[in-house]
Amino acid sequence: MLGLKATLLALVCTALPSYIQAQQLPFAPHLHQEQLVRLSWPSRSAAEEAVAWLDDNNFDVWSTTPQHTTLRLSPSQHEQLSSSHLSPSALDVLLPSIADHLDSTTLTPTFNLQHSEAAVANLSSTRLQALDDPIHDSYHSLDALYQILRRFEEEFSDYAHIVKVGESAEGKDILGLKVTNQSYTPTVSRSQDDVVDSHFEDSDGIHALKHKKHKIHKKLGFVVAGGQHAREWIAPSVVLYLIHDLLLSTVYVPYPSHSHRTYSRPTAAHLLDTVEFTFIPTLNPDGYSWTWATEGDRLWRKNRQPTGDGCYGVDMNRNWGFKWASGSRPNPCSDAYAGEGPFESPELRAVRDYLLEKKNNVKGFLDVHSFGQMIMFPFSYSCSRSSPDEENHFEGVVWAAKALRAVHGKNFEVGSVCEVSLTAPGDSIDWTYAVGKIRWSFSVELRGGIFGFLLPPAQIRPSGEEMSAAFVALADYVVRKEEGQRFDIAREKEI
Ligand SMILES: [Zn+2]
Repeated sequence: MLGLKATLLALVCTALPSYIQAQQLPFAPHLHQEQLVRLSWPSRSAAEEAVAWLDDNNFDVWSTTPQHTTLRLSPSQHEQLSSSHLSPSALDVLLPSIADHLDSTTLTPTFNLQHSEAAVANLSSTRLQALDDPIHDSYHSLDALYQILRRFEEEFSDYAHIVKVGESAEGKDILGLKVTNQSYTPTVSRSQDDVVDSHFEDSDGIHALKHKKHKIHKKLGFVVAGGQHAREWIAPSVVLYLIHDLLLSTVYVPYPSHSHRTYSRPTAAHLLDTVEFTFIPTLNPDGYSWTWATEGDRLWRKNRQPTGDGCYGVDMNRNWGFKWASGSRPNPCSDAYAGEGPFESPELRAVRDYLLEKKNNVKGFLDVHSFGQMIMFPFSYSCSRSSPDEENHFEGVVWAAKALRAVHGKNFEVGSVCEVSLTAPGDSIDWTYAVGKIRWSFSVELRGGIFGFLLPPAQIRPSGEEMSAAFVALADYVVRKEEGQRFDIAREKEI
């Protein structure tokens, strides 16, 4: 511990000279003084205890695993940490000065806004015929995201139409794009053998997970949502890429030869015949807009509803209504504030109602986050609870991770949220699975590397490419299981 204190002091000192550079970057000058560090823990319980303390004390935790915590530290927080009871087994500095290690131009909203506006300005004259369209080379403001959705709707009108999921706390629209083959209605017979009639029991009672034993007459709903956490800019951008790749693979034959495509046409066509996807780039338009505002905060995580004590924002991914834990993060100023009650966030109430709406027939849900390179399934609130579908979930995420790795060689860890990340009550997929009865509930943490949430825009495209491969593998797996087909991962040919 003494050694750690000495290290922390040294880090505080080395951070000081970069104050001067704050003048070169008016946006978020504090980032020049701050470091990105990784703390290692001797045990899971030490990591759990540390993250709770860090959240309660307004530290900015960027990612967690049972072994490591990555967080942003100011000089004063270094001192606070070194005098605390926490005893990390190691401290590694990932970025000595967060801003210095980034291309200052890609860090600023101004840069991103200019590039986004340029890409969107050309939208009316392009047919979006290839994935090398410049829309995938920059991040996009909320307005630009929605303009791109509208352009998809215009260009692919037989397959795509915009839906309004609801409104944010500040009254902004939460828009999604429904994507399906609108001229095709399936009648698929479900195998009796594949019917799941199971339940699990916990302190809240018995949760039934029954699936109807009759023919499916309507399409299977599959919702893909990004952006619960505002600063994870890569998530909405990857959702746009997933939409574009799926639509292009289905619509254009022959496909432009110079352009990458993930899907085989039969797979894409079958998915759009049997599934009605809803892609929602961001569930948190207020928080996302705040990360783009010049008076805002690029690293804002929560939504923007007032929470008392002059603070704003509920951590939406701690505010879902299954195993929501009152008092788990009581500080309303904390980045992980879970709210005063479950579904306090109006954004979550809107998406909850959308997921439960009968006509949407939602059987699949994918919650897109960054960062950490993980593909996960329930549960998040506890590692001692497993679901009756765990074996199927595991098979699905292994299949998806394998497809993902084949694109750019990235390894994504797989498992339950609790096992791979840390215990987090109030998480989305715990509710969608246990209460929403959405059997195929998954979440993903996209790539971030040492850049974390400040991933350079040059990585949007590779991140989209690899996630698109994982997504088609996962969606195809879900459809085949729902249709009662056999699936043997050892014998399957890659999609
Ligand atoms: Zn997140």
